[in-house]
Amino acid sequence: MIEKYSRVYASVDLDAIHSNMDHMKANIEPETKIISVIKADGYGHGAVPIARELESLDYIFGFATATVEEAFILRHSGITKPILILGYAFPYCYEEMIREKITPTVFRNDTLEELSLCALKMRKEAEKDGIMPDNIRVKIHIKVDTGMSRIGVSPDEEGLELVKKALSMPEIEVEGIFTHFARADEADKTAAKQQMNTFKTFIEKTKMETGYEIPVCHCSNSAGIIGLREANMNVVRAGVTTYGLWPSGEVERDIVRLMPAMELKSHIVYIKELKAGAAISYGGTFVTKRMTKAATIPVGYGDGYPRGLSNKGYVLVRGQKAPIIGRICMDQFMVDVTDIPEVIEGDEVTLIGRDGGESITMELLGELSGRFNYELACLIGKRVPRIYL
Ligand code: PLP
Repeated sequence: MIEKYSRVYASVDLDAIHSNMDHMKANIEPETKIISVIKADGYGHGAVPIARELESLDYIFGFATATVEEAFILRHSGITKPILILGYAFPYCYEEMIREKITPTVFRNDTLEELSLCALKMRKEAEKDGIMPDNIRVKIHIKVDTGMSRIGVSPDEEGLELVKKALSMPEIEVEGIFTHFARADEADKTAAKQQMNTFKTFIEKTKMETGYEIPVCHCSNSAGIIGLREANMNVVRAGVTTYGLWPSGEVERDIVRLMPAMELKSHIVYIKELKAGAAISYGGTFVTKRMTKAATIPVGYGDGYPRGLSNKGYVLVRGQKAPIIGRICMDQFMVDVTDIPEVIEGDEVTLIGRDGGESITMELLGELSGRFNYELACLIGKRVPRIYL
């Protein structure tokens, strides 16, 4: 790897991302499309390169972000497929959002009113300027809360009223409706099935009462796509599996083949020989019991490497495990390389990924640090350059 990336870099294998998507697609119905969830900068992997890699695939319906700013970054990078904002979009951005044809999620009456007013204002302004706008209609997806108790209308009269109101507004186009599973990643799918049934019943009801069939319906996340096939409607939303990570330890691993896309690598910058009794790092939480070769790695929690790995985790050097000794600092930590023959300063260090026959997964780091694999991926900091393979 080029010198300037020697301190630390995260390599992201776009072929692995592509292949993970293909495997997820192979597990769903031929006509079902995928919304690729690339919020939080593609779970820390880089939303723009991933969107560019996946956009041309026929089965990719579009992309989903959490915020409007994330959606703008994608649009301004030339992504033309639909982009759905999964969270609440604040009114300050409606005009730009409409201009950029970004799809908001709607679950509040005031959002409908403000979107409609904004679209109307834009139309009038365009007409005043002598432009006949072809389509200042705002495509929306309605979010239904079927058991997550997060954003979303209730699947009852309240929800029905919102759908009816949206359908009555000439500036609004109800393109989609969706819900989100709270427990699809558990072995027992009872709760997820209940959510699915509630959602499907609500969709039927809206169709009966309004005569309108909402074209795009989606509820499955990665765990649903893998473990609850009957929940896969005409669209599904795949997030964590895109990156080769698993939604949880309870999700079956032999249904789709996933390859972790990210590796995190560094190099040893210093090796020090310490006598027995030397205290290592802040707080002296590790004291050597024998003559120890301690190698300093120039990475820390300032890079998103979790402090919870202090005295618990390990890295790979020359294909062997080197245990972390003492506390992880903001920018450095130490590992014990006493038992690694011929180890020298400058040796490559694998913090996440493969080296020889050994590997360290995001899931393993999660277990060792008491954190969540999704969280760890998102936490790999801005200071860590991403290299796309
Ligand atoms: N849909 C919504 C609404 C989400 O919030 C998320 C992620 O948290 C996803 C889909 C993707 O979930 P996963 O990464 O488990 O596939």
